[in-house]
Amino acid sequence: MMLGHVNVHNHEVIRIHDYMAPSDGLLVHSVIVEGPNSLVLFDAQFLLSYAKDLADYIQRLRKPLARIIISHVHPDHWSGLAVVAPRFPAAKIAALPKVRDYIALNGQEIMDARRNVFGDAVASQAVIPEEIIEPGEHVIDGVHYQFEAHDEGESQYQLVAILPNQRTLLAFDLVFPRHVHAFTVAPYFSHWTKILRQLESYDFDAILVGHSRPASREDIGATIEYLEIAKEIHAQTTSPEDYAAKLKKHFPDRGEAGWIDFASLMLYGVINP
Ligand SMILES: [Zn+2]
Repeated sequence: MMLGHVNVHNHEVIRIHDYMAPSDGLLVHSVIVEGPNSLVLFDAQFLLSYAKDLADYIQRLRKPLARIIISHVHPDHWSGLAVVAPRFPAAKIAALPKVRDYIALNGQEIMDARRNVFGDAVASQAVIPEEIIEPGEHVIDGVHYQFEAHDEGESQYQLVAILPNQRTLLAFDLVFPRHVHAFTVAPYFSHWTKILRQLESYDFDAILVGHSRPASREDIGATIEYLEIAKEIHAQTTSPEDYAAKLKKHFPDRGEAGWIDFASLMLYGVINP
């Protein structure tokens, strides 16, 4: 019995497995790209229980996990490395240079802070990516990737991955499905919007995101709209409680309101890091 939910996208030679944790695991996604001979995993979950569930799923695919790529600096995407990495010791863990450096510098402090909130459910030790991936074209096990680095979006440093032959965009936490709130943990509203306008111009059929149910191209525009309102509210408010209340009132149909409570504490520096 799996705890999470997996959507499998079948392509000619490869399959893309999109794992999503249950809601107490923040509906975080991990994406497994299954090539002819090996697997590449993007992101390793937040709660250790779902990291184990993910690792079990990967094992059942019966191909070696060649590489783990961490998309950005937020620990809901790499805390679970504490479980996944020892299960697949041959898999190299990689991230963009700035993502790797940030986690190397702040990772342990971040995990100590999250342990105060989430307890034993999250990792006690930060696992630091040991390799870097540079933006640009990469071919791994015959699968083509275009990697991009985007600063000052949802997080300080963020990877975007395009699989041109599968016409798939991995947008991670830059795009949120319109039925849930977005994590606005840093005041990069305008620059985040600018990145989204760029992604909107790309040619793709499928978009995979960092949290919640499957997204569509329209969710890029919806995220832009959300950020424009959040920016206005942020400019008018001085407390996390006020910011969260106004944002919830403006978007009553968006679920996971608890995400805004947590994000606003980070946005106003109450939780730091
Ligand atoms: Zn996230």
